[in-house]
Amino acid sequence: MPSFVITEKCDGCKGQDKTACMYICPHDLMTLDKERMKAHNQEPEQCWECYNCVKICPQQAIEVRAYADFAPMGASVIPMRGTDSIMWTVKFRSGALKRFKFPIRLIPEGTIDPYAGKPEPNYDNLKKQDVFFTTA
Ligand code: SF4
Ligand code: SF4
Repeated sequence: MPSFVITEKCDGCKGQDKTACMYICPHDLMTLDKERMKAHNQEPEQCWECYNCVKICPQQAIEVRAYADFAPMGASVIPMRGTDSIMWTVKFRSGALKRFKFPIRLIPEGTIDPYAGKPEPNYDNLKKQDVFFTTA
């Protein structure tokens, strides 16, 4: 079951060029109707149900209607992402609700330096045919 945008909640990320759901989708499925300022999944059958768009949407405007073995008949699984944790609200078929909160990071967003401790790249290597096998 693909992602589904609740248009009443979507504000088009307030008119930014690339919305949060467009930025995060690993399959480039989300697109924005700039006249209506509403996003939608342009190829639903290609959706991986990865929940990335659901988790990142600041308006909680996206749902993924999960497979029946994961969230059967009337059940739902809804994430709400904070800056340091994520809360999953699970609604069971019986109507019972449970919430699970997990930490997702210990340091502020944007502070990771992925190249820390690595040597400076040698751009001359890009001109070599054996670039993939060059280490220095
Ligand atoms: S991230 Fe949410 S609010 Fe922003 S465009 Fe996508 S669906 Fe709309
Ligand atoms: S659930 Fe994943 S693959 Fe599907 S539209 Fe959202 S981000 Fe893209």
